[in-house]
Order: sequence, then C-alpha cells, then structure tokens
Amino acid sequence: MSNPIITLKRGKEDSLNRFHPWVFSGAIATMPENLEEGDIVDVVTHDGRHIGVGHYQVGSIMVRILDFGTTSIDQEFFATRLAEALKLRKALRLDREDNDAYRLVHGEGDFLPGLIVDIYGNTAVVQAHSPGMHFARTAIANALVSLDGIEIKNVYYKSETTLPYKAQLDPQNDYLIGGFETNIAIENGLKFHVDWLKGQKTGFFVDQRDNRSLLEHFARGRKVLNMFCYTGGFSFYAMRGGAELVHSVDSSAKAITLTDANVELNFPGDARHKSYAEDAFKFLDSMEKDSYDLIVLDPPAFAKHRSALKNALRGYQRLNAKAFEKISSGGILFTFSCSQAVNKDQFRLAVFSAAAQSRRKVRILHQLTQPADHPINIYHPEGEYLKGLILYVE
Ligand code: SAH
Repeated sequence: MSNPIITLKRGKEDSLNRFHPWVFSGAIATMPENLEEGDIVDVVTHDGRHIGVGHYQVGSIMVRILDFGTTSIDQEFFATRLAEALKLRKALRLDREDNDAYRLVHGEGDFLPGLIVDIYGNTAVVQAHSPGMHFARTAIANALVSLDGIEIKNVYYKSETTLPYKAQLDPQNDYLIGGFETNIAIENGLKFHVDWLKGQKTGFFVDQRDNRSLLEHFARGRKVLNMFCYTGGFSFYAMRGGAELVHSVDSSAKAITLTDANVELNFPGDARHKSYAEDAFKFLDSMEKDSYDLIVLDPPAFAKHRSALKNALRGYQRLNAKAFEKISSGGILFTFSCSQAVNKDQFRLAVFSAAAQSRRKVRILHQLTQPADHPINIYHPEGEYLKGLILYVE
C-alpha cells in the first residue's frame, strides 16, 4: 500500500464488501491530517485488511472506490477502464455510420465514479464530478485519444458546474486536446448540432435515445406536444414517425433556437413544426383541451437533493395533472423524471395521483429507463436515475 491510508470504524466495511463504491464520512475512524481533496487513498478495515483504492474528497461521501484491489491509479489504469467501457459500447453497436453520439463513461456504471464522458463523432466531452477526476483529467484525455477502435481527436473538458464549489478547484471549460467549435452528431440517422461549449450537460441529452425511438413508433398521424424540448430530440423522431404536427416548448430561448436549427437540419422547410419559448406550466394552462394526442413531459430534475424530494413529487404531480386534463381521448403520454433522489415507485405514485385527480382512465403501456450506455453497476443501485412511463389515456 503506497497511498495515504483511511481506516474504517469496526463493522463499517459491510457495504464495501458488497462492492458498493462509496465510503461515507461516518464510517471513517482515522485518516492522515494532511490529506488533500482529490488524493488517492487506500481504504482498510479497523484491523488492517485492505479494501480498495479510491479518490478522497470532503463531504458526506469521502471516498469513491476506483478499484477493490491495489491497482495504481495512473494513465494505464484509465486506459484499461476506458477500453472496457468502449468494448461495451461496441457490443451495443452504438458507433455506427448512422449513430455517433453515445455515453462512453457513466460514472459508477463504468467503475469510474465521478467521471462522465460523452462521445460526439471524434470529440469526447469529459465531465468531472469529483476533485480526484479533475486532477486526473490529463491522464484521462491522453488515454481517450490513445484508445484503439475509435478515433478521438478533440477532448473538451466541461466541469465548471459539476465540481464541488467548496473545493475551490476553479476548473476552466476548455479543450484538453484538439479544438473544434461546432459539431453535428448523428443519432439513429437524425442529425443534431451539439454545442458542448454553451449547451447544458455535455451539450445533448444522449440518455433519451431509446425512448425517442419508441416515440417515433407512436407518432404516425398524431398531434405531438414536446414539452421541455431542449434541443428538440423527441420532436425530430416524431416528425420522422409521420406526426401530423409537432409543437416544441422550452422556457429557454436558446434551447428553442437550437430546436429550430435542428428541425431545419433534418426537415428543411417542414411546416408541421412550430416552437414556443414559454414556461411549460403556463403553456399547459392556456392551451385548449384536445389540442394534442401525444404529449412528452421531460422536465429537468425537480429534486437535485433528497431534501427537495417532497416539493419535487408535488411538482411531478402538478405537471402530469395538467397533461391528463388536456390530452385528447386515446392520447399517449410520455412522462419522465431524471431526478436521482426520486425513485421509480415515488415517481409512479406522483403520476398515479395526477391521473386520479383527472378522473381519466389511464393504462401503463411501457415502463422506461435509461439506455444501455448508461449502465447501472449492480452494487450501486443509486446509478438508476431516469424513469419514464408511456401511458394510454382515455
Ligand atoms: N427532452 C430534452 C431534454 C430536456 S432537459 C431532450 O430530449 O433533449 C430540460 C429542459 O427543460 C431544459 O432545456 C430547460 O431549459 C427546460 N425547462 C426548465 N424549466 C422549464 C419550464 N418551467 N418550462 C419550460 N421549460 C423548462
């Protein structure tokens, strides 16, 4: 063991023995005084048995375990983990001529807690959620461009809003390797401008790919309302699926500009599409009943933390109640929650309450989740965050 040592309290190794990768502050008995955020540490039980090696940080989660062995955390370590991550995406057949946007690294789901990497063509957008990953960014970037089986030319680092503010790391969003201003990525044959410089998250929501595909199959002849559209993902799938009309709504004018540009890219001059820079709740309040028979509700995370859970559930109920009230009979509702703090059952209960409030007959057709390039480490159930339902409303 060559790293600083964190010793656990007696009996606090149980979850780690089950390969859950987090060490909470309350589990720690002793640690060196001069430990710095982002340091690589060895974690041992009260009687000195080695558990694993991980990144230390200040907070309720104090260590994120990178390896339940004694591996050195260096460029070779990242090269190996990234190669394993790529192998899975290749098996999922996500890098094809008609699809070059996907998540390469999904934190704990790829045994790299604190790290997100999204691929858009030959650009990788890297996001660190822990100081340890911030300090490893150069090693990660070098490992990315050296990967066999994929040609990554640009690595953009985007962690200004994802690192703990108190750590005072002052991360700058910038290219670590290469440099390229704009990009057009392809998802299932549809094209998207991806603005990783100014866009939300890494520039695009790759996690709705499979759910957008499902929507395409429901869209024929329907009047579609895509609420919280961001860059318009669901809208183009609906158009390709033969929707009669598609209306996209987002409160951000910038998102609406992106949506319009993406419609133009895929369906130039197509009059079926209209977009509105408006608040979703107000839009639903003021729209006529029966204007739409396919509605998508994909709001931002209402609960970013557990403390906001109650309000978040009320928010989901209120939003869904408005949709149930207005959707045509025989309508299809795609409704989502991406709040990690809200679990599947809580979300379903909020939607159930909204349905009951509207007194409509509602049936669940599909239960949706995140796609396979956002895998859930079986020992880390917290990795499941995206939940959705497709409902048939009479
Ligand atoms: N469905 C999108 C992702 C949605 S992200 C996709 O497939 O890519 C959530 C979006 O909700 C953001 O674009 C944000 O600008 C928007 N938003 C947040 N609050 C809103 C509100 N009150 N009304 C309308 N849009 C809102």
